[in-house]
Formats: sequence, structure tokens, C-alpha cells
Amino acid sequence: MDRPICSYCGKDSVSIEVKDMVLSEPYGGTATVKIKDKVCTHCGFVENDDDNDLVIQEGLTALKRTSMVKMIEALNSMGYTTAAMERALELPARTLARWKNEQSISPSAAGVALMRIIRTFPWILAVADSQFDPEVARITLLQQIEHEFRNLD
Ligand SMILES: [Zn+2]
Repeated sequence: MDRPICSYCGKDSVSIEVKDMVLSEPYGGTATVKIKDKVCTHCGFVENDDDNDLVIQEGLTALKRTSMVKMIEALNSMGYTTAAMERALELPARTLARWKNEQSISPSAAGVALMRIIRTFPWILAVADSQFDPEVARITLLQQIEHEFRNLD
């Protein structure tokens, strides 16, 4: 392979510096990927390696999968079964089970956003279960507020 050329000064005195980049995802924790800087030892110009975008994208995709599994497992451990959540949300049967268990599936951005909201406010499932009845929504919210205040003591 040819030595990389500095795109600023045109000299072939470019060295590759590998550094860690920490990625994070709500409810998914963090992951570290290795990215490369191309540094010109002649003029000091620093540029991104062309592969960095792909490395970051793959890291984020993996982390989103991890966060999806963690969100669903946390909801399961709170007593919300996967089947009950699918019913409440009117999702096709086994949608959440597949998001949780099938490594090859990458949930859509909308699916990830939905699960972040539910993981943050799990009681919204009771509202969904009532077909989003406004009265149920209001009462459930007030009950949650009361519950939160009681937990302050
Ligand atoms: Zn240069």
C-alpha cells in the first residue's frame, strides 16, 4: 500500500495515531472504540482516518442493541412481561422478544426511542393498557407523583 499523503502539504510523512473514543447510549452504558488520526510529521496537520465513521457507527449500533436488551430486561424484572408490553403497545406479537433476543435485528430509531420512554416512565404502560384513556392517564400520573413524594421520606 502507498504511504498516506498529507492532504494539506502533500508530503508522505503521515503517521497514524490510534486513540480511544468512548461512546455512550442511554441505558446502554459505554463502549470504547479505537479511532485513528492521520498526523503529518512535516506540517503537523491532523485529519480523521476515513474508517473512523464506520468504526463509530458500528460501535453505536452494538451499543444500541445492548441498551435495548438492558431496557427490556429491566422492565421484565419490574414485572412487565414482554407479551404484556406488546399487548399494551399493540405491537405485533414477539416484536420485543425479537428485539431482545435476536442478535441480527437492529431495532429502528423509533423502536429505540419508544423503549427509552417506557424504561424511563414504565407506568405509561398502564395508560397504554387503557387505550390512552385521558382519565386513566391523569389518575396514573397523579398516583406516580404521590408515589414519588412518599419515596422522598
Ligand atoms: Zn503535512
